Amino acid sequence: MKTKVLNGAANVGLFLAHALELENEAAERYEELADSMEAHNNPEVAKLFRDLAGYSRKHAAEVKQVAAEHGPVPKVAPWEFQWDSTTESPEAASFEHAHYLMKPHHALKMALLSETQGNKYYASVAAETKDPEVARLAREFAEEEAEHVALVRKWLERYPLPKEGWDDDPDPPNISD
Ligand code: ZN
Repeated sequence: MKTKVLNGAANVGLFLAHALELENEAAERYEELADSMEAHNNPEVAKLFRDLAGYSRKHAAEVKQVAAEHGPVPKVAPWEFQWDSTTESPEAASFEHAHYLMKPHHALKMALLSETQGNKYYASVAAETKDPEVARLAREFAEEEAEHVALVRKWLERYPLPKEGWDDDPDPPNISD
């Protein structure tokens, strides 16, 4: 069976609508991760996530600028967004399994997955589209995501996998009230 054609590859407007959704979702999730790292007294990793959120916001702003030159971004209903394999945007899907005791390593792993999926999404649009302008933009965006992947990988060297037992909580949260 052939995989369905990505509607984000159809034309510049639809591509930009997808890119905007992807970047906004990613920024939101990164803000959440930053909040969580701050709550767990890890300002260093919190700052990294604020930076990644900032990149996504900047990217979203760029998308809006390109859109201003190409005419308005079409309105796409949430269920009409078409990513590779999930209904959630590729950069957001990976944050579902956040654990309240997660360590920087785990948070960085989520970021890695998110950036990798973002990169793959843009690359697959670039490969699939018949529109040269969509191909050019998608390649450019894929490259930016590849830079983020490299950045997160560098951070992962600093935060290797923690020892077993990282999720043992001596004082578990009270969920009875
Ligand atoms: Zn990114």
